[in-house]
Amino acid sequence: MSGQLLLARPGDPSPKHLHARFELVDASGAPLLVHFVDQRTFGGLALAGVDADGIPDPVQHIARDPFDPLFDAAAVARRITSRPSGIKRQLLDQTIVSGIGNIYADEALWRAGLHGERRGDRLTKPAVIRLLGHAHEVMADALGEGGTSFDSLYVNVNGESGYFERSLNAYGREGQPCRRCGTLMRREHFMNRSSFSCPRCQPRPRTTS
Ligand SMILES: [Zn+2]
Repeated sequence: MSGQLLLARPGDPSPKHLHARFELVDASGAPLLVHFVDQRTFGGLALAGVDADGIPDPVQHIARDPFDPLFDAAAVARRITSRPSGIKRQLLDQTIVSGIGNIYADEALWRAGLHGERRGDRLTKPAVIRLLGHAHEVMADALGEGGTSFDSLYVNVNGESGYFERSLNAYGREGQPCRRCGTLMRREHFMNRSSFSCPRCQPRPRTTS
């Protein structure tokens, strides 16, 4: 929920809430520090074994994220389209695909023109592969702008916040015109959170799971 791994050089001031420091060398042989900083102390550190792909044992149940070179969009789409549960719920299910949070799910669904309650098993595999492509694209765009910082604790490895919220097309835009069609964006309840979508570009499905 919080906590950061921040890069530093020897002699840099220690950040507040520093819990662990790793002294490494970078590719050029220069000393490099990695600070584990955790303001809310929800984080933890552990030594664990890894499998042949380098995945630590305690996170074997977490699916690959779309940036992983071994991410298999066709296999993920096969899984999603075999299940009746809503497409947004599946995008957020870390056992199916990891790394896509509430904000980026809404952005990907807006780009794809899909309502989040569309059932996985009512979608075609190509449509889901396109949706996963949109998720990858929106997260790549966000990384390019340093991420989305509604919370000052979300920073990159250099401790900088991002500005991607200015580029959001769906999330947080209730009552504002859709950037594609001008219809006013809506907000709906979703698992103790909110979903933002365009009523025209993303019509609600007739049947939900
Ligand atoms: Zn629209």
